[in-house]
Amino acid sequence: MTTLTAPTSVADLLRRQRAYWATGATRDLAFRLERLKALRAAIVKYQADIIDAARQDLGRPDFEGYFEVGVISELDYVIKHVHRWVMPRKVSLPLNQLPGSAWVQPEPLGVALIIGPWNYPFQLMISPLMGAIAAGNCAMLKPSELAPATSSVLAKLVADTFDPAHVALVEGGVDIAQALLAEKFDHIFFTGGARVGKIVMQAAAQHLTPVTLELGGKSPCIVDADVNLEVAARRIMWGKFLNAGQTCVAPDYLLVDERIKDDLVTALQQRLKDCYGDNPAQSPDYSRIVNERQFDRLVGLLGQGNVLAGGEHDRGDRYIAPTLIDGIGWDDPIMQEEIFGPILPILTYRDLGEAIAAINQRPKPLALYLFTRDRRVQAQVLEQTTAGSVGINDVILQIVVWDMPFGGVGSSGIGGYHGRYSFDTFSHLKSVLKKPFWMDLDWRYPPYGDKVKLFQKFIGLS
Ligand code: NAD
Repeated sequence: MTTLTAPTSVADLLRRQRAYWATGATRDLAFRLERLKALRAAIVKYQADIIDAARQDLGRPDFEGYFEVGVISELDYVIKHVHRWVMPRKVSLPLNQLPGSAWVQPEPLGVALIIGPWNYPFQLMISPLMGAIAAGNCAMLKPSELAPATSSVLAKLVADTFDPAHVALVEGGVDIAQALLAEKFDHIFFTGGARVGKIVMQAAAQHLTPVTLELGGKSPCIVDADVNLEVAARRIMWGKFLNAGQTCVAPDYLLVDERIKDDLVTALQQRLKDCYGDNPAQSPDYSRIVNERQFDRLVGLLGQGNVLAGGEHDRGDRYIAPTLIDGIGWDDPIMQEEIFGPILPILTYRDLGEAIAAINQRPKPLALYLFTRDRRVQAQVLEQTTAGSVGINDVILQIVVWDMPFGGVGSSGIGGYHGRYSFDTFSHLKSVLKKPFWMDLDWRYPPYGDKVKLFQKFIGLS
């Protein structure tokens, strides 16, 4: 039995995990690999249920449901490389430390807590989980209660695959999350919004528990005049409207060189028709808003600016049409919060420097996108802005390159993960210095006499 609801059970479960971790079983590389492969087999076994749950929770088309199952490609990468990541990382010593040797030895942290969001509710639990297992930890999972079908599939999959003393899943909402957060874990990995991120960090501070916070924010997308408009429109519209805009790294708004704005809008409107037909409500390829609360929040944002496409909505169906708007200023409400839905404001700029300054006045984004062929513009934007990650001439795909860390900066998050970075996130990188007995120079021992000159040399003063 791994799915629990009573807060008292959380403490019991944690005691069992601590006891299991103390046996050292999770440290064995063969065990880690075997468990990762078992996780892979479970994802394959449950793939139809995962896709079905994504349809129930978010109205996802099957193709986009496979984005959840697609986490398996990262799992394969981890399975292939983890034997190298566990090895001590040799470090060369400065002359004054010789003879000797030094290395960084990764070691597991203990028991990790992983709390997830509703928007990619399966993959955003499994992706950190594989890092926790690969690094030799036990893990406790708390998926989002707002994607209940996926939460239920995750609970079954975990119960079917893992000894709860190693990996357990606790279903539930805020109460359960808070009961978990009251306990002492060795790492907390949280994906969600900044408001809850602060609550998580506060709770972690009580136990001095390290945190990874994968948060959100407004991710700008700059479109320079020197672009292939058709291709730019295809990529932007895909990234914005998949999962009905409920993607943390979706372009939040466009900042377009005013000289190409009209042409870009025409290309974007055409793409909407090409992708979703004349009535996206009828399209089998368009998702729904997760719940009525989010629906009402998004409809509340629709009253601003001029609608260039879309704007229709139906509360009963939790449907909001893919919507393009212009006539928006930086001070409008829609520019004050992460949109996290299928509404794309189109702002323009005349001077790239001003556009960059406007971005820099706002919280540091999770992702920043730039469409341009001009290498000087690419260099300028890279140099003068900051963001968790950057896509040049494409969107979203930068987060599925397993050799790069995925995470935010500033208020879009703390820490990063994926592939090797997940392994490091769930590890302590222990520094080890080893000396032999056969030589023991006298320079550092009292009486110091006139050794100060020698020491000055050692530290590079003379
Ligand atoms: P959320 O912060 O509302 O909820 C996330 C988790 O926190 C859920 O499991 C929820 O049960 C729990 N929770 C909610 N209130 C809590 C409380 N008071 N105390 C303790 N736990 C609590 O986030 P969400 O609405 O599920 O997700 C949307 C946000 O997540 C967006 O801001 C989005 O950008 C962000 N996000 C970020 C990433 C990323 O990888 N950086 C990925 C997906 C989503």
